[in-house]
Amino acid sequence: MRCDNCDGAPVYNRRYSGQKFCHDHFTEYFERKVKKTINDSGMIKRGERIGVALSGGKDSITLLSILNKMEDIELFAIAVDEGIKGYREKSLHVAKKFCKETDISLEIISFKNSFGVTVDETKDHACSFCGVLRRRLLNDRAKELGLDKLATGHNLDDETQAIMINYIRGDPERLLRLSNSTHSDKFVPRIKPLQEMPEKEVGLYAVLNFNIDFSECPYAGDSFRTGIRDFINTLERDNPGIKFSIKRGYEKLTPYLESYPTKELKECPLCGEPTSGEVCKVCDMLQSTKMFINDNKNRRE
Ligand code: SF4
Ligand SMILES: [Zn+2]
Ligand SMILES: [Zn+2]
Repeated sequence: MRCDNCDGAPVYNRRYSGQKFCHDHFTEYFERKVKKTINDSGMIKRGERIGVALSGGKDSITLLSILNKMEDIELFAIAVDEGIKGYREKSLHVAKKFCKETDISLEIISFKNSFGVTVDETKDHACSFCGVLRRRLLNDRAKELGLDKLATGHNLDDETQAIMINYIRGDPERLLRLSNSTHSDKFVPRIKPLQEMPEKEVGLYAVLNFNIDFSECPYAGDSFRTGIRDFINTLERDNPGIKFSIKRGYEKLTPYLESYPTKELKECPLCGEPTSGEVCKVCDMLQSTKMFINDNKNRRE
């Protein structure tokens, strides 16, 4: 067996298209496809200031590295320390080292300094707490830095999982937000340049191109999302290409979702950020988490 483009040994057999790639041709294909996604959608324009949410994992390192090869944009990496013992120290070390080697400016912001709590203190609902608060911190910092866009490392698998979760929950507003983040001028527009790349391909690109030991968050695998991920992976194994079908199907529905009556956004009385409820998700989560921590403290005393 050899690469479809040269005599080299293949490192990847793309089941949904039948193509085989050697190391160099896989890297070339991967970078070309990410750039095509960016160009076709016009998600980045010349001269823009782009923030990259950098976790130090394979997705965000891959994203930052590819964006760093683009001309005429200014890049800023922003990492969030959520307070996850044994994991975040390692991934922040990866992020710092990578930014130093590539000369990209990096800023680290923490849950503890900003909100007074860490993910480790939340126990049962780590991922929802983590996701909501991280989004807020990244958006706040992106606004302060005057960035035009905030890029995240979401890949095709992340996108199809989110689509399925919101179908199952019957949540058209969140479905719409997956492709359109600019529903308030208080939010810096988000872009996902890796959205067409299957997680497997991102992982392979990272292994082939970076000498990094990537670690996994101890809370990953605890959520409803894991069941959906396994379900979609089983479908993909038996029907190669189904992840793309899920995404294309969603894109066909998007115009109809746009006419769905969305709730009007008000100002959160506690922090002033936009919300469709009485208080925003961040304030709501912070209140209940701090109550939970205090209850536990009182019980121990
Ligand atoms: S797996 Fe959950 S807790 Fe860990 S970083 Fe991701 S969202 Fe946060
Ligand atoms: Zn080749
Ligand atoms: Zn609020």
